[in-house]
Amino acid sequence: MAHRIKHPIHLEQPRSTYIHVPFCVHRCGYCDFTLVAGKDHLIHNYLEALSRELADLRAWGNFASSQPLSLDTLYFGGGTPTHLSPEELRRLFEIVFEYFSLDENAEFTVEANPVDLTEEKIAVLVEAGVNRLSLGVQSFEESALKLLERDHTRETIHDAMNRLRGRLDNVSLDLIFAVPGQSRKDWKATLAEAADLHATHLSTYCLTFEKGTSFYQRLQQGKLSSADEELQREMYADVMTFLPQRGYEQYEISSFAKPGFRSRHNQVYWSGRGYFGFGPGAARYLAGVRETNHRSVTTWLKKVAAGESGAQEREQLSDEDRARERLILGLRTLDGVNLTTFADETGFLMEELCGSEIEKLIAAGHLERDARRLRLTHDGRFFADSVTLELL
Ligand code: SF4
Repeated sequence: MAHRIKHPIHLEQPRSTYIHVPFCVHRCGYCDFTLVAGKDHLIHNYLEALSRELADLRAWGNFASSQPLSLDTLYFGGGTPTHLSPEELRRLFEIVFEYFSLDENAEFTVEANPVDLTEEKIAVLVEAGVNRLSLGVQSFEESALKLLERDHTRETIHDAMNRLRGRLDNVSLDLIFAVPGQSRKDWKATLAEAADLHATHLSTYCLTFEKGTSFYQRLQQGKLSSADEELQREMYADVMTFLPQRGYEQYEISSFAKPGFRSRHNQVYWSGRGYFGFGPGAARYLAGVRETNHRSVTTWLKKVAAGESGAQEREQLSDEDRARERLILGLRTLDGVNLTTFADETGFLMEELCGSEIEKLIAAGHLERDARRLRLTHDGRFFADSVTLELL
């Protein structure tokens, strides 16, 4: 049991909000996110329930206020927020802005699919003040897009980027590597094409086969095979070599940004600060309490419509849990964790909390420490998940 060196910890009011929009045309074979596919008739109920959940939370704890709460970051994720019609999107923003307002320099992100970005929808986004898009591109290769069951083509991506140009230029692209059948040459071509499109930010993920997905089932049945570990490692190494050459700085295990374009919203998560969250499956972290809403969209809808809480789990983190989490999340970032700030913010000395585990990871070459901070080494980035397990 580690000992705190001072108390109490100041828990400030969150200035970030996540809204989950759980609708898609079709569930892609690898996707295990909270969503319903082909059930657009539920969008109306969702908007009603979201409004209700927002109203309930306003009356919660320290956050009771008749004024909209001011935010630094607002993020709409999914599912596919842009699957909503222009009218539904307008209504969605209207509901949220009853309860929140944006600071002058706030970051306002919406996840989008290339196929949805018509002139009309882009106009709705711009009008609402969206200043950052996270585009689910995944690949520029037709074969990979087909295998991933995406509903866009390479051409759709280029068309969407052309339409956005000059209107919404801060665009992050999500890319997936280690797609079955994908070679390193294919992957490098996708990276080059993304960089050529002048995306301000790139997030790159290794394809995983999550239980419950159709990809997982096909893997078990031998109908699909995953890329071998060596190839996955080489592809990740390719990202870390190629993107910095094109002006992208890696600042987190999966995230690369042009200078000044790091995701401020995601940095809130990694810094252990609090945030609001609404919609099915959404998590919030308020005053040391983490709540996660029901992942079943219909259960969440029923609960909230009946005037009950949409939360399925509620966990009051102890000071020690919070400090450990702060360490683990902070180590996802390449800046790592500042030793002094860590002690000030959590009340714990890192070595008291998990000194022997840290020494082991340093000896293994996965972590490095100087007078100021602890962080992942270059090699450690390949083993980030096992570093986390070691420190839990
Ligand atoms: S579009 Fe995105 S959220 Fe929707 S099913 Fe596909 S991967 Fe999942």
